[in-house]
Amino acid sequence: MKLMVLHGGAGRWESKELDKALSVLRRAAEIGFKTLSNGGSALDAVVEAVSFMEYSGVLNAGRGSCRDLAGGVSLDAGVMWMGRAGAVAHVKATWNAVKLARIVMEGTPHVLLAGDGADELARKKGLPPLEVVTGEVNSDTVGAVALDENGRLASAVSTGGIRGKMPGRVGDSPIPGAGFWTSRLVASCSTGYGEAIIMAQPCRLTSILYEEKGLPLSKALINACEAVKAPCGLIALTINGEAAASTIADFMPIAIARERDIKMLVVKRGEALEL
Ligand code: ASP
Repeated sequence: MKLMVLHGGAGRWESKELDKALSVLRRAAEIGFKTLSNGGSALDAVVEAVSFMEYSGVLNAGRGSCRDLAGGVSLDAGVMWMGRAGAVAHVKATWNAVKLARIVMEGTPHVLLAGDGADELARKKGLPPLEVVTGEVNSDTVGAVALDENGRLASAVSTGGIRGKMPGRVGDSPIPGAGFWTSRLVASCSTGYGEAIIMAQPCRLTSILYEEKGLPLSKALINACEAVKAPCGLIALTINGEAAASTIADFMPIAIARERDIKMLVVKRGEALEL
């Protein structure tokens, strides 16, 4: 079974911006699902879909990233599948932070590479340079989870961080368990207030609640969101093809891609939806 869920960030969205985000998410879902349909892995699919969202300039990731207090832009991203994770933090050399995270996972002995070292690797691998197209988008982090035909799960996340951050700040997105997690049965990724998310580890918690405590996926997600005690949104899917989304922020635009269609939804505060 092939399946994907994508989000465009949980937060306070203006309706005009929500519409733009939904159209980028739909396109990203098409790209990700096509990757799966062409025999690509779940990892290929999440990286392709998130790369498109980074390139769009519409969402707070890649070329659309928000600025820090000094006017600079720095990116965080992470990927995980098959028991391995790769992540990058405070990247300034490329907009394609999720691809760089994949390179860290597959091409280095490390899990998380930050700052100058991550930038050097991006240049060495010929990743496209970072040109910020807006720097002032009022949107949020992007993420994707996928299940491929071979029953493999992957998660990916990418962000410009939070508006008004101090230069040097790194959020939850590149931290396994906090921003993203793929366990034996569940892949998930989060969005929201990074400082609280790092402490609560909601993605790791989702796997524990589903796999060890036996909670239904949507219940695991809302419990994990609530553990954050600050604006947070989560998407997840399981190896059995269950998909769910939940948020305790105002809104979270999402896309669900299956064989027969792509469904667009805006998840609202307090909802825990089986998709
Ligand atoms: N979690 C991200 C961060 O704190 C921001 C977001 O999801 O909008 O960097």
